[in-house]
Amino acid sequence: MTRYFLNLIFRTSLIVLLTASFSIAPVLDAIAATPAKKLFGAKRLPVVMSPASYGFYSKGCLAGGIAMPHDGATWEVMRPSRNRRWGHPNLVRLIERLSIDAKKNYGWNGLMVGDLSQPRGGPMLTGHASHQVGLDADIWLRPMPARRWTRKERNSLSAISVLKKGTVRVNNGIWTKAHEGLIKTAAQYREVQRIFVHPGIKKKLCNTVKGDRRWLNKVRPYWGHHYHMHVRLRCQPGSTNCKRQASTGSGTGCDKTLEWWFKVAFAPKKNTKKKKTVVKKKKKKKKKVRRYKIMADLPSQCRTVLAGPNPVSIASVTLKPRGSIDTLVASNKAIVSTGAAAIAASAAVSPAINAVNSVVAVKQNVKDFTIPTPKPSR
Ligand SMILES: [Zn+2]
Repeated sequence: MTRYFLNLIFRTSLIVLLTASFSIAPVLDAIAATPAKKLFGAKRLPVVMSPASYGFYSKGCLAGGIAMPHDGATWEVMRPSRNRRWGHPNLVRLIERLSIDAKKNYGWNGLMVGDLSQPRGGPMLTGHASHQVGLDADIWLRPMPARRWTRKERNSLSAISVLKKGTVRVNNGIWTKAHEGLIKTAAQYREVQRIFVHPGIKKKLCNTVKGDRRWLNKVRPYWGHHYHMHVRLRCQPGSTNCKRQASTGSGTGCDKTLEWWFKVAFAPKKNTKKKKTVVKKKKKKKKKVRRYKIMADLPSQCRTVLAGPNPVSIASVTLKPRGSIDTLVASNKAIVSTGAAAIAASAAVSPAINAVNSVVAVKQNVKDFTIPTPKPSR
């Protein structure tokens, strides 16, 4: 009798196993066909694995990422609702170091930290082409005001361009030596591979930086990047499957390659007959259907990263800041809501920034600004 039952149990479990394996197959197919940005965009927590970047900045994922705390003594994370404050532990630590060094050496009053990566890196549903392997970070070119922004403000506050409106040149009413100091501090870190800024900013640096100019080599001109700089780290130790980016070579880059931006890229478009025919020809061409990256396009390890276990808590995977911010948070609670006067009183670096802060404070429901998509391969 017992043997009969054992036999029955064995048979039933075999049937269950077989049916399960048949029903898993379509699920796997569905994952394989889903755009990778949907899969990675849905992850709210990092994977518990040794920290490693897999693939390239614009085609990869991140294992063992940690979060930048929303608040530190010398930084605040912007756009918190996006949940893009995750990076390789070395990136997160470097941002903390940058916030301390820039304040100590150049009086930059704390960092406004923009996007890093998603918890497990990977392609994003909106915005950046890169930021996929936990080694890219956007830092706003605007110092933290004395008062902390509320969570709501951080999601809606407009970023400020350092360019003169309608031009590709830096606005000298906004630009300060501290801006230069912030970029210099980041560029001089050994771990930093390159920094993207708008060509107008690079030009400003080329024209004004005195003394040691070697660090200008890492500062690369690119579209957008006039309200933030994009700091990119090299592949970090332990990331054997991280694909390196080409070296920035030697020289300051204050040369013909920079002039190209102003002479060609930003030159006004000429309306000639020749151009019109080109446009017509282009229209005839079939529209290319954009194919989104699927899992098969990413390094194979990204499947493990996607399917791996969550941490026990967010706190366990969040940077433990060097300095305490308890006193700071307490002092902020004392400041009442979003008065324009309070913001104007917060000693910002230049009068121009104070003026803009006041405007932002009274403007309700500020729309989210559009992020220019940074191309990764420059
Ligand atoms: Zn960026």
